[in-house]
Amino acid sequence: MSATIIDGKAAAQDLRARIAALVPDFVTAAGRKPGLTVVLVGEDPASAVYVRSKGVATEAAGMKSDTIRLPAETTQDELLDLVRALNADDSVDGILVQLPLPKQIDENAVIAAIDPDKDVDGFHPVNAGRLATGLPGFVPCTPLGCLMMLKTQLGTLAGREAVVIGRSNIVGKPMAQLLLGESCTVTIAHSKTRDLPAVVRRADIVVAAVGRPEMVQADWIKPGATVIDVGINRIDAGEGKTRLVGDVAFDAVSQVAGAITPVPGGVGPMTIAVLLRNALVAAYRNAGVPLAPDAI
Ligand code: NAD
Repeated sequence: MSATIIDGKAAAQDLRARIAALVPDFVTAAGRKPGLTVVLVGEDPASAVYVRSKGVATEAAGMKSDTIRLPAETTQDELLDLVRALNADDSVDGILVQLPLPKQIDENAVIAAIDPDKDVDGFHPVNAGRLATGLPGFVPCTPLGCLMMLKTQLGTLAGREAVVIGRSNIVGKPMAQLLLGESCTVTIAHSKTRDLPAVVRRADIVVAAVGRPEMVQADWIKPGATVIDVGINRIDAGEGKTRLVGDVAFDAVSQVAGAITPVPGGVGPMTIAVLLRNALVAAYRNAGVPLAPDAI
């Protein structure tokens, strides 16, 4: 058997088109474009690439992109002052502080300072609490993108056995909450889980968010299961080259699974599209412009 490949690029394009279609309504109602403000502290090259691609995607959707660049020696107080100023600015819809931050700055303090209603990354403890209690809020982009792909692929998720491997605050835990919200029976596996292959074998849905190249093996997978691979790992490809692989041994697992996301081209493209979705929703909500609950 060969699995259906879940095309994250196509799913992301579809979502971005739906976002772009909603922008003009906001502009008409609010008299300005919806926007995303990204704060980048320091010169980490990977962060600079992410921030640039977020800006390009934001503008491609017809939204306003602002990037505030601060020097690597910025103090925590200076960054907190900036966040408070952005919170107070009604023309700022969504705020994203690019992580990681330089070591003199406490990331948790900065996340906690962002207005939860502008927290388009969904990392604020208030948004984590809203997700856990089923209240509307902002959900971290990567797991929300995974959920969207799962629902497109499978329809209703109710009653299915889901195993999430990884328990980080940005992927594993919110992913588990989202699946629980869809009435799956959810297991969260992690580095201390005993007999991980046996746990994963129960799953109709496997979400791997570990950061270990090709860890999940074909004989861990129940035939026909849907496998979402969040991992992004750069490995040596010989001759001085590298390549990207996920947390799942794609070639072997795709012979057993019913559907699987590739790396690259699976979860990654959806993450930025969901960020735009969160920024647009923040704009609608904060400007008091009505948006149908199922609009996006
Ligand atoms: P993390 O390091 O914060 O968490 C990893 C989790 O894996 C931990 O909870 C740990 O308990 C678990 N773990 C570690 N070793 C394990 C083992 N041997 N068995 C079972 N569980 C184990 O990582 P993260 O931020 O959640 O990211 C996970 C992966 O997803 C990384 O490869 C990251 O690059 C990738 N990622 C991709 C996107 C995307 O847009 N595609 C977004 C975020 C993260």
